[in-house]
Amino acid sequence: MPTLGLGTWENEDPAQCAESVRTALEMGYRHVDTAQIYGNEAAVGEGIDAAAVDREDVFLATKVWISNLAPEDVVATTKASLETLGVDTVDLLYVHWPAGAYDPEETLPAFDELVDRGLTERVGVSNFEPHHVERAMDVLDAPVFANQVETHPFCQQSALRAHAAEHGYELVAYSPLARGSVFDDDVVRDVAAAHDASPAQVSLAWLAEKGVTAIPKATSEAHIRDNWESRSLELSAEEIARIDAIERHHREVHPDFGPDAWE
Ligand code: NAP
Repeated sequence: MPTLGLGTWENEDPAQCAESVRTALEMGYRHVDTAQIYGNEAAVGEGIDAAAVDREDVFLATKVWISNLAPEDVVATTKASLETLGVDTVDLLYVHWPAGAYDPEETLPAFDELVDRGLTERVGVSNFEPHHVERAMDVLDAPVFANQVETHPFCQQSALRAHAAEHGYELVAYSPLARGSVFDDDVVRDVAAAHDASPAQVSLAWLAEKGVTAIPKATSEAHIRDNWESRSLELSAEEIARIDAIERHHREVHPDFGPDAWE
């Protein structure tokens, strides 16, 4: 899985969303993240189609929404997602939250069926606490490939990172820029200034150093490029330690919904 991808939540204008995806892929991105609930799978598919990049070179992930997690709905809505995306298979299919119609014993065998039928290459989970991941590992035949959770300098997920390393799955950071909040942090700004970099690049470089895949959402070519260029930013051990110290266990997305602390 390419370790820097493009997020698409709230990239809702279809033409703009397709253009962001096309721009990112032609710049070099090879990982695109969407979800049924974002309402933009058609535009994401159009962007992939429009880009001068082969579909098989793109790591495409989508997520089954919480109201679609009864087994028959997992299968029917995933087929609908593939049709909307205009693809035969996705590279990664996530359970979006362990909530709503989620029932591990009922939901997860349907994900195994989708792997067996070739409709997804891999199974992922999102917003799962360690005990949810372990239950999923017990029930699934397929490995849990990744857990996508909010991760950034204000919500560092050190316990979940250790759990991922111990159990052999990838951590994918959503809201890796804390939805813009990191841009105002003095430490992040200071480190950015020292490298003539942007605060966004510092947040992404910090995540890369932690071995976490990041999927920043960006709409404009300038933001898409700024994030892409974070790959050449190397932070010193002292800078990493300074950013480690700004942890505040703060989540931007649904702080009242689902797990509020993994630490
Ligand atoms: P984010 O990536 O932390 O932040 C996105 C915001 O930062 C947007 O306002 C974007 O503006 C701005 N931005 C991006 N790059 C920038 C740059 N270089 N300089 C200045 N501003 C920049 O937040 P997110 O969208 O919440 O998270 C990223 C992705 O994670 C989502 O799009 C989605 O794919 C996924 N996600 C998953 C879940 C889940 O439950 N699994 C939850 C939330 C998010 P522009 O759009 O104007 O460029």
